[in-house]
Amino acid sequence: MIRIGCGTLIWHFYALGLKWLGVKPLVTINFGALLHSNNPIANTGFAVLSGVLVAIAGDFFYYWMHRAQHAVPFLWRLHATHHSIRELTAWNCNHHISEPFVYAAFVALPLALIHFESGVVPVAAMALITFQAHLSHSSTRFNLGPLRYLIGDNKFHRIHHSTEFHHRHKNYGFFTTVWDTIFRTAYWPKTNEWPEVGMRNQPEPLTVRDFIMFPFDQRRWRKAKAGSGTQGIKTGGLNAVERDGPIHSDRSSAI
Ligand SMILES: [Zn+2]
Ligand SMILES: [Zn+2]
Repeated sequence: MIRIGCGTLIWHFYALGLKWLGVKPLVTINFGALLHSNNPIANTGFAVLSGVLVAIAGDFFYYWMHRAQHAVPFLWRLHATHHSIRELTAWNCNHHISEPFVYAAFVALPLALIHFESGVVPVAAMALITFQAHLSHSSTRFNLGPLRYLIGDNKFHRIHHSTEFHHRHKNYGFFTTVWDTIFRTAYWPKTNEWPEVGMRNQPEPLTVRDFIMFPFDQRRWRKAKAGSGTQGIKTGGLNAVERDGPIHSDRSSAI
């Protein structure tokens, strides 16, 4: 609830700020131009397609934001709150409350400058896009099968949360898997591949205070470093465990 409340508030101020600054799109890419058929069935199909194309294009910025969150130590500490979850479901997949600010800078701002026009997207398509967002963290065995080569699902995103070494730095995309394919970070899960998730050296926050303070709790991060056995492997100010959390060279540390 806190996340939804903060997110709504931030989005409201963000929209007001852009309006106040008079920020207008630099470019408009009009997928709605696809809707030129006189056949209503074809038009509905094109409307769904245009909605999906907008979501795929938007995910390009999400993909690079997500890579930055795993590469920049400060952003990683904020994002690690989400990765610390050890029993992922559609309902507990919370991000840290700072996530909307990061999203506003990396995704919403470029999307405000490059405006994607989709025409009128049918409610059914919007419902499917919303469903996909919940499916991605769901522990259900239902998945999208071969459609996964275009749209991300729970099997694909679970690899990103995996504690396994060979899943390291994979599957950053959320709505689509296309950008992972293009930038060579895609890992296609095998039929029964359903790895453990979480961070081996970071316990999950159990209280609201711990959840909010997760990125800033020096004792927590010192303990993680001490338990890793990799002190001295410094990269960008943090050692490999601090930065990459879910993935570790010390295989003996208990999850
Ligand atoms: Zn991540
Ligand atoms: Zn996730």
